[in-house]
Amino acid sequence: MIHVTKTYLPDKEKYKKYVDEIYENGWVTNNGPLVRKLEKKLAEYLDVKNVVLVANGTVALEIAYRTLGLKDFAITTPFSFVATTSSLVTNNLLPIFVDIDPDTLTIDPEKIEQQITRNTSAIVPVHVFGNACDVEQIQEIANRYNLKVVYDAAHAFGVKYNGESLLNYGDISTLSFHATKLFHTIEGGALIINNDDLVQKARYLINFGFENQESIPEIGTNAKMNEFEAAMGLCMLDEIDNIFTKRKKVYEIYENELGNVVKLQKKNKNASLNYSYFPVIFESEDQMLKVKEALNKENIFPRRYFYPSLDTLNYIEPKQCKPIARDISRRILCLPIYPSLEEDKMINIIRVIKDNL
Ligand SMILES: *Cc1c(COP(=O)(O)O)cnc(C)c1O
Repeated sequence: MIHVTKTYLPDKEKYKKYVDEIYENGWVTNNGPLVRKLEKKLAEYLDVKNVVLVANGTVALEIAYRTLGLKDFAITTPFSFVATTSSLVTNNLLPIFVDIDPDTLTIDPEKIEQQITRNTSAIVPVHVFGNACDVEQIQEIANRYNLKVVYDAAHAFGVKYNGESLLNYGDISTLSFHATKLFHTIEGGALIINNDDLVQKARYLINFGFENQESIPEIGTNAKMNEFEAAMGLCMLDEIDNIFTKRKKVYEIYENELGNVVKLQKKNKNASLNYSYFPVIFESEDQMLKVKEALNKENIFPRRYFYPSLDTLNYIEPKQCKPIARDISRRILCLPIYPSLEEDKMINIIRVIKDNL
């Protein structure tokens, strides 16, 4: 069976050595030495100032909103994984959806301004499938209306914008290190925080609000990453160049073979690619379903990322309707992409797609 992704498992012997280390010192969680080591290494690798590791990408978003003190309304995209929206709702923020650009699939910056009101406190865009948002225009709007910007950068690990880390844009960017992601720590996530003063607050928030054993200045939660997860991250980081090289190969074969027969996402030309997803946009939902069924018959399981459009969630009140996101979400499919995907398997996937258009 071929799924949309396959968890990359790095060198087992190296992981075992870290496990031995953890057993020897007995420190399994609570800001342990491996978590701190991974934070340092990731800051260097990603070329960012501050990395705060957390338990997962969803809680990273929640901590970001709370670190910045967001309230009332947050402008966001309906075309993302559900956690982008649900994390707002669980933090008493009302998502105000702005439709996407039908080509880039990221939030349409031209449509943001008309949705801003006195109650808007932030913009929460997503670099969907690793494609960089129009970060400059978004920052300009945020500056003009004094809004915070939190990027859900769960897909954007390693992406550069004009040669520098894309994660440096916005007040905070969040990452997910879930096992299905490009770089993972089994479960995990991170906050990339530009303002040094906010780092301390985020660290209190992920540890019950504790400043020290006797002082609890913030209403915190438990969002800590543990040492076994950090060990996985350290092993993954050692193999990340190999991961990118292999993904690039898969990506380019798809692009060459499918670029002329189906619609592909239009990439931000100022940004690099990380080859994390391969979305394909079909002419209609019927055509997409036909292809999906044909692939399923061959034990190939692409995913309907992202469906349904988040403006259709039943718990969002008042109701909103974003026609472009709804249309795209009905006819898009993400093809299997991971480092060990063999070329003959890909050729078969491409054949099935072409035969069913
Ligand atoms: C994976 C993902 C998340 C959630 O991350 P978890 O680590 O699974 O909690 C949030 N946003 C986007 C866009 C994602 O793809």
